[in-house]
Parts: sequence; C-alpha cells; structure tokens
Amino acid sequence: MDTARRAQTRAVRAGTVIIGAGHPLVVQSMAATRTRDPEATIAQVRALHEAGAGLVRLAVDSGGDCEALARIHEALPQVNLTVDLQESYQLAPQVAPHVVKIRYNPGHLHHHEKGRSTPDKVAGLVEVATRHGCALRIGVNCGSVDPALASRFGDDQAGAMVESAVQHCRILDDLGFHSYLVSLKGSCPELVVAANRRFAALMPQVPLHLGLTEAGMPPEGIIKSRLALEPLLAAGIGDTLRVSLTLPFDRKWEEVAAGRQILDDVAAGRLLEASGPGIRGLDIVSCPSCSRVENSAFVDLALKVRETTAYARLSDITIAVMGCRVNGPGETDRADLGLWCAADFVNLKRGTEQIGAFRYDEVIGRLLEELDRLIEERARGPRGRNGTGGQALPDGGGSR
Ligand code: SF4
Repeated sequence: MDTARRAQTRAVRAGTVIIGAGHPLVVQSMAATRTRDPEATIAQVRALHEAGAGLVRLAVDSGGDCEALARIHEALPQVNLTVDLQESYQLAPQVAPHVVKIRYNPGHLHHHEKGRSTPDKVAGLVEVATRHGCALRIGVNCGSVDPALASRFGDDQAGAMVESAVQHCRILDDLGFHSYLVSLKGSCPELVVAANRRFAALMPQVPLHLGLTEAGMPPEGIIKSRLALEPLLAAGIGDTLRVSLTLPFDRKWEEVAAGRQILDDVAAGRLLEASGPGIRGLDIVSCPSCSRVENSAFVDLALKVRETTAYARLSDITIAVMGCRVNGPGETDRADLGLWCAADFVNLKRGTEQIGAFRYDEVIGRLLEELDRLIEERARGPRGRNGTGGQALPDGGGSR
C-alpha cells in the first residue's frame, strides 16, 4: 500500500474518527432498514457498529425519518452516524444535530427549488454543517450524475463524474469549507478505478471514500468490490470505504467484515487482480437496499434472480436488480436486462426499453423469457451488452 500518497490528503474529522492524512482507513456501512422503524434500525446500526464500522449511514427523506434519526442517535450516542440526503437536501438542518457527516449527491440537487442555483444550495448545506460541526461528503454516483454533465461528456462517464466532483470541491473551497470528502461510485469496477484515479490526480489533497455500488450478493459482490478497491488502495488512493452488498438484514454486518478483510489483504499484498481475470459471464448487479427500498421483498427478489438465472452463468449478460427509483432507472438503462422495484410492482426493462410493470410474483417468469430471447439473439449474431458492442456470446445455453 502506498502510504506516502495516502498521507497527502487532508484530515477530516467525523465524530470520533479522522479520515485522511494517513490515518487508518475507516470502514463504513449503511443500514438497510427503514429509518422510520427506529427499533429495527437501532438493532442494525448497533450490529454494524459492533462489527467494526467506524461510521454508519442512514437514509433520510422525510420529517418522520428525521424524528426517528433523533431517537436512533439518542439510543446509540457512541455511534458515528452519517446521513445520506440524496434529493432531500432541504432536511439538512433537521438531521445535522444528530450526525457527524452528511452526504449529498450533486446529481440530485436540481430536483427541487429549480429557481435556486446549485452554489446557493451548497452554501446552505455548508452553513448547516459548519454550525453543527459536521463533515460533508460530495457523493457522486454514476447512476445519477448531473444530467447536464452526463450529456456534455457522453460516453466518458468517468469524465462526467470527475467534473461533477471537481465543480463541487471548488464551490466548497470558495466558501472556505474544507471538512469534506468525495466519493465517485458506480457499479462497474473499471469505471470506479478510472474515476478515482483521475480525481486523485487532479485533487490529491481531498480524502476519498471508495465504494462500488450495486456490487450484488456475496461472494460475487465481494469479488467485484475487490476488483474496484484493491488497485486503488494499493496505489494509496482512498481514505475510507464501504463494501455494498445485497444481504438479508441479519447478515448486513458482513459488509463490514468484507471491508476489513480487503484492507488486511491489500496490506499483505494478497491482491485478487494478480491471481486471475475479472468477472466474466452473467453479471447480476443489485443494490444493497436501504431505507428507500420500495418493498421489503426486494432482497428476496434479488436472491431469486440469482438462483433462477444460474443456468445462464456463462452468458456475457448484465442483469440489474434495484430497490427503488433513486438509482433504479439509470442503473437499469445500462444493463442488458433490468428490474427496478416500485411498491406494488416491478419494472422490467431491456436496456433503456421498458418491457412492462409486473407483480412481484410474476416478474421472474417474464425476466427468464427475456433472458432466453436475448441468449438466442446473441447466438444468431454478434452483439454486445445492450446490443451495442461486439462481444461474442460465450456458450451460455438457452434453456433453463
Ligand atoms: S437503489 Fe434505492 S433502495 Fe437501493 S440502495 Fe439505492 S437508494 Fe437504496
């Protein structure tokens, strides 16, 4: 691990942990329970904390979530809580008294108060963070990058992500606020590596939170996370990380164990990339779920997708399974086949095309029909992912 490079980032305090400037890397995690269900969330936050999470994040989208957050903080004052605001940046004043860090998504600031400028919205967040001694994270996600930058950069997704982060660093720097981190996440390991390398070269002083989103279920999700995190950590890039895994609630702590194991292995030079090629064949991208998940049947659905599509494991096909509309539409656009959950139905897509909305108990059958069709089409002629590239079809079979 390149410790000299890690020492270049500035130190950012978040409660009892210091991130950056060569301090020990902090493993984070996030509760998947509904924030409005304080009992379930307290139990999960406690389990993540006891597993070694230095910071535990919650999603907050409503006044009810804020009230629950206050109860959770009161019950667990020893935990460094952070909050993910996504589109709900206006709730910052209500959450800040209870957390040590606030994550906002630059790609989600445009939804509300359309007449108010982005720098003005960020200035509001900075004022709140300063008043309450919170750090901020500029959390760029490839599935929800600022639409103006996405169209400007076209296929250069890493470029759009880095530009978004740099723009927001400049806004914060101009405001004299330096207690912030950046994250550049996506579901493709190569993209995450490229974006973080580019950002670290441009702004080596800014601490980075690393993570691969929608890594999926273990063990594949851990392998994919390793492909993204190991090269960065080995190069001295990254000050804190989260391994995002789709897991039943009682196993959520495994995210923390996976993160700690990756750190131990990188420190010992046991790198996955050195021992073989990356993921090939069927790639199931699934979000780790969080308070925003629209139906608690999501985790079971993701597990069922993996189980029922196993017959196609050698096919070079990506299936995205997403818990809600925050990153669901964007992430499924990039997959060959995608499912994203609403409260009472699941949207099924092929690339950007909407196939239909199906009940939870019927969508798997429709997914398998589409999967078979895709395998047959590819067997007839060379088509790549999303039908745009030129990858040949491996022998994946066409029957269940
Ligand atoms: S897609 Fe939705 S439910 Fe899944 S982790 Fe992201 S915000 Fe949470």
